[in-house]
Amino acid sequence: PVVTRFAPSPTGYLHIGGARTALFNWLYAQHTGGRMLLRIEDTDRERSTDAATAAILDGLSWLGLTWDGEPISQFERAPRHREVAEQLVAMGKAYYAYETPAELDAMREKAKAEGRPPRYDGAWRDRDPSDAPAGVKGAIRIKAPREGETVVHDRVQGEVRFPNKDLDDFIILRSDGNPTYMHAVVVDDHDMGVTHIIRGDDHLTNAARQTVIYQAMGWDVPSMSHIPLIHGADGAKLSKRHGALGVEAYRAMGYLPKALLNYLARLGWSHGDDEVMSIEDMISWFEIEDVNKGAARFDFAKLEALNGVWMRRTDDRELTDALVATLPFLPGGEEMLAKLTDARRAQLLAAMPGLKERAKTLVELADSAGYLFAQRPLPLDEKAAGILDADARAVLSKAADALASVRDWTAQDTEAAVRDVAEAGGLKLGKVAQPLRAALTGRSTSPGVFDVLAVLGREESLARIRDQAG
Ligand code: GLU
Repeated sequence: PVVTRFAPSPTGYLHIGGARTALFNWLYAQHTGGRMLLRIEDTDRERSTDAATAAILDGLSWLGLTWDGEPISQFERAPRHREVAEQLVAMGKAYYAYETPAELDAMREKAKAEGRPPRYDGAWRDRDPSDAPAGVKGAIRIKAPREGETVVHDRVQGEVRFPNKDLDDFIILRSDGNPTYMHAVVVDDHDMGVTHIIRGDDHLTNAARQTVIYQAMGWDVPSMSHIPLIHGADGAKLSKRHGALGVEAYRAMGYLPKALLNYLARLGWSHGDDEVMSIEDMISWFEIEDVNKGAARFDFAKLEALNGVWMRRTDDRELTDALVATLPFLPGGEEMLAKLTDARRAQLLAAMPGLKERAKTLVELADSAGYLFAQRPLPLDEKAAGILDADARAVLSKAADALASVRDWTAQDTEAAVRDVAEAGGLKLGKVAQPLRAALTGRSTSPGVFDVLAVLGREESLARIRDQAG
């Protein structure tokens, strides 16, 4: 059975590239009926924080990217990393090297002066450990092959060949007893039973070194897939301006998880011409071989358009729940939440068909639902104030009288009453509807005014109209 893993370093939030890596691992595991494990790569004690780990778990949970079992801490596995390093020494596949930091610096300087890449010269590879200088603790280095090449069979990049002369005897266990990242990843992936490694292509050269460790241990190398990084719309490396933000920023921008997942999946992977894909579609269609080799470009406009599609496709009750759950993260959302009585929640649900037609994000949705939460007398925005001149206020007064005698407070019956007012005054419908909209919502744009009347109910509607009537 397939075992994938997502292995973030908890040095910051779950950024959008990490979320896509997690998604591909998750999709592949779901597609194959396998499992996705989560490993927190917290060996860098200076930069790793619990807050970052919490943010990553929270981001994954919000997206619905579930993992199997408990998250594994890489740091806690350091004794096991040491054990394997020592085992490699015992097997003659690795050795203790006793250079002092000053000697290593000198080696680097010399290589630089001669225009060579800095590589360890292998001095201790064949030396007798009993030569070790007193008081110097050795680091463990792997005996990397010197001839031939190391081949990474990558399911996205193809066969990638690394000449072994370019791989030096790199350190797997530092002289302080701590494993290097390169070594810890291999031991963990092996022990966790990972069968498929799917990660960013910035790790491709690491894959060659990691292969050397697998081979030294006689372990199977997992299937490798190095996926292209995400670039900005202009092709440059993704920066904050381009959208290199934590997923919680996308939550605060009002994107639905399923829309963000759909968008992320399409970044670098395609299934024919399908743009709009449900999670079920993605699971059934995802194949690693269909991931593109070229860098993907992040485009906010596409994400927003896709989010709009998903909002309209989402059932009213589910969308209302999503909006309410997201309110704490939205600008002004806390205030709305404080005013969210059961009655208002019911109004929100009733208004949803009209609201969702016009909104591309939950931020826009919350904004256009603002009229439900407004207190009388309503504040008017500039355009609404402009609409409500003396003539319009006189029309409102007539409209209020006509509406007051509507028996069934429905969109149809209120519309009939408003049409009568327009006809009687020789006015176009808009000349009545626009002032009504301004009075009811404080704005010049809103969902259909008769739907607004229906949602607000008779009493509140008449009160809002009379507040502005002249
Ligand atoms: N911790 C690494 C990162 O955040 C991932 C390493 C891996 O997937 O092997 O980039």
